[in-house]
Amino acid sequence: MRQPTDKCLICNERNATKQNSHIIPKFFGKGIFFGTKPRYGLVLTKKVNTNKIQDIIKENYLFCPECEKGISVLETYCALRLDRFNDLRYYNSFNIFKRKEFEFFECKNIDKKIFNLFIYSIIWRVSISCHYLYSKFKLIESDEEKLRILLKIYLETTQEKLANKLVDLKELPSHSHVIIRPRKRLRPPSSMLSAASLNDSIHQLHLVDYLIIYITNPTKLVEVLKEIDNNNLENLVRVGLTDPKLWEKFNFDLINKILK
Ligand SMILES: [Zn+2]
Repeated sequence: MRQPTDKCLICNERNATKQNSHIIPKFFGKGIFFGTKPRYGLVLTKKVNTNKIQDIIKENYLFCPECEKGISVLETYCALRLDRFNDLRYYNSFNIFKRKEFEFFECKNIDKKIFNLFIYSIIWRVSISCHYLYSKFKLIESDEEKLRILLKIYLETTQEKLANKLVDLKELPSHSHVIIRPRKRLRPPSSMLSAASLNDSIHQLHLVDYLIIYITNPTKLVEVLKEIDNNNLENLVRVGLTDPKLWEKFNFDLINKILK
């Protein structure tokens, strides 16, 4: 068990006094409780088929208050802007593209550097988490360390400081990541929080309304998804869209892998 006198896992300098740190941003987890009274979610594990959880997973003494604040700055910024896709008033904030195999949208108002840090912060936290729900998700140590160092350098306690700091960010780790969601937000969500690494390079995170595929060896990214790879500083943030049937399939394929 971690103690408040342990060093913060991000900066490794200040004490990790923060309690109740979310591993997955609250924004992603909240849909899982839709329509359940009392509020609960189902967690599937290998040993016990179903466990009820009252809230999305929190852990104590992982981070110092400053690093925790830095993560929340990324989350607040990105969650607000991603969620606007569900709101017609923000129709003009997005460009929609249709391809043969899939559709995607571009977010005109999301800073690409902040979005990348946001994804790194989630992937890194799930990878370092000791919670059994995330035990099948693990980056290799050198990849984990690359993300930690980026977070250590760039996390800032306000959006303004972050924007100033990010002027220095010129290069991202040579990874790939895509984010996919159903065309319309599904309620009930027909999916869950789950995380699994398929091998050393391919890692999948299902966050109720979003699926993130994180790839540490970009040659493994399938051709069709290259167009929505966000691990670069060139394009706008792109979010893949699927129809609800395909969405369920993604979800069940992932559950099958976790329960193997
Ligand atoms: Zn810290």
